[in-house]
Amino acid sequence: MADTIFGKITRGEIPTEFLYQDEHCIVIRDIQPQAPTHVLIIPRKPIPRLVDSLPEDQTLLGHLLLVAGKVADQLGVGDAFRLVINNGEGGGQTVFHLHLHILAGRDMAECQLVSDLN
Ligand code: AMP
Repeated sequence: MADTIFGKITRGEIPTEFLYQDEHCIVIRDIQPQAPTHVLIIPRKPIPRLVDSLPEDQTLLGHLLLVAGKVADQLGVGDAFRLVINNGEGGGQTVFHLHLHILAGRDMAECQLVSDLN
């Protein structure tokens, strides 16, 4: 697959503050936040899209969800956040290295569709 900005960030080639990191993933602030809290959970493994993940990625995918909950808690939004994965261009994906968005700090209950957030 083609390298992406997230590949460079996960490898430390572009200096970026990591809010959290472990051997499987990193968490950074989104450069164009769509909510008061908007962070990205990015696996170190460069899976282009969610649909490109393999059965062998099952543990990694579960890990990303656990990290999302933990980081949301640490950021003080554990009780009210939205988790988003955009898949493919038509799904709004712009960086083709799998990532999860945590969005919080505004009334998510009023946004029934993810597109309402944009
Ligand atoms: P998506 O549209 O789901 O592919 O999300 C890509 C996200 O990455 C967008 O919300 C961008 O604002 C964000 N983004 C792109 N480049 C960077 C960067 N260098 N650092 C942090 N976030 C970025």
